Amino acid sequence: MALLFVEHIGIAVAHLEEAVTRYTKLLGVPPYAEEEVPSEGVKTVFFRCGSHKIELLGALHQNSPIAKFLAKRGEGVHHIAYRSSDIRADMVRLKNEGFQLLSEEPRPGAENMWVCFVHPRDCQGVLTELCQPREE
Ligand code: ZN
Repeated sequence: MALLFVEHIGIAVAHLEEAVTRYTKLLGVPPYAEEEVPSEGVKTVFFRCGSHKIELLGALHQNSPIAKFLAKRGEGVHHIAYRSSDIRADMVRLKNEGFQLLSEEPRPGAENMWVCFVHPRDCQGVLTELCQPREE
């Protein structure tokens, strides 16, 4: 089963408000949603760009994976998210192909999605997210 499409690109930012102002100017449109995901230690802000989305990610606290990413690599592209039609089936498929998944089960993510991350080591250095709307 193929992944459906690129759902969004996640960008780690040091100062969320500043980044929102900048991306509003860049894209010519304000964000349509913002949400805290305490389980992941992030605050997310979403923009639409055509059929794609840009997700700005700010750290909620020092132990957030985003804070760790920023400390290690600085601001920049954090992950690419692909829409899955069956996240559990894709997790099994990828596991069987030798990919390292960062969680055993799908986790609740922003925008009412189930998400699972694939280790960047297995994706040419790109942290990769699978996501599927939770109501599906
Ligand atoms: Zn994401």
